[in-house]
Amino acid sequence: MHIQEAHTLPQQNQFADRVIDQYSDLTDIELLGALIDDDGFGQIGAVSSFGADSALLLAMIAEIDASIPVIFLDTGKHFPETTDYVQSLSQQLGLENIHYRRPDLVEVKIHDTIGDLWESSVDACCDLRKVRPLEKALQGFDSWISGRKRFHGSDRSGLQSVEWSDGRYKINPLAHWTADQIRSEFEMRDLPQHPLVAQGFPSIGCAPCTRAVAPGEDVRSGRWADLDKTECGIHSQPWMGANI
Ligand code: SF4
Repeated sequence: MHIQEAHTLPQQNQFADRVIDQYSDLTDIELLGALIDDDGFGQIGAVSSFGADSALLLAMIAEIDASIPVIFLDTGKHFPETTDYVQSLSQQLGLENIHYRRPDLVEVKIHDTIGDLWESSVDACCDLRKVRPLEKALQGFDSWISGRKRFHGSDRSGLQSVEWSDGRYKINPLAHWTADQIRSEFEMRDLPQHPLVAQGFPSIGCAPCTRAVAPGEDVRSGRWADLDKTECGIHSQPWMGANI
C-alpha cells in the first residue's frame, strides 16, 4: 500500500505523519494488524453492520485476533436474515467477542412507543436506535474500525484510511477497495454472503429503510430511497485523516 495523500489539522499532524511514515509499505491486513498493535490507538473495537460486504473486514479481524470486540447495533428493525447472519458468520469466522448493542428501552418506550418513528422521522429514529446506542457502546474505546469504502460514494468518496473524529481514531482498512476487489476476495476466502445480496441488496440496513436496487443503480441508492438522507448519523465528518 502506498501513500496517496494526507489531510491534517495542526493538532493531529504529528500522529498522522508518524502513522504514514511507519506503515505505508504494508499490505492491508498487515496494516490492520499493525494499527491494532499500535499503542497510539489505545483500546480498539470494530463496528459492523453485518451487511453486504461485512464478512471481508470481519474475516481480516478474525485472522488477526478473534477476541477483538465487534459491536453490532441491534436496532430492533433489522431484516431477520441479518440477525441470522450475525450468528452464522460470527460462528464461521470464530469471532469470540460480539457486542450486541440495543437502543435504550425506556427511550424507545417514550419516543417510539409503537415502533413507527421511522415513518415520521428517520433522523430521530436513527438517533434513537443507532447514534445513541453507539455512543454508549464506544465508551471505553479509544479507536474503532469501520468497513466503509469510497466506492459507496457521497460523503464516503473522500474517505481516508485513518481519521480522527469525535475524540477517537477511526480506522477504515477497506477505504480504497473497489467492488470488484471485494468480490474477488470473497471468492478467494470462500466467505458467505449476506443472503439478501442475491436478492438485489448491495447495501443492507434496517428493513423499513432498505430496498433492493436495479442493476446499474448506485450501491447505496436503496438506503432511505426517495429521501434526502444518505447516512444514519454514526459517521460524522473527520477533523483529520491520513491515507496509507
Ligand atoms: S435505518 Fe430506519 S429503522 Fe433503522 S434506525 Fe434508521 S430510521 Fe430507524
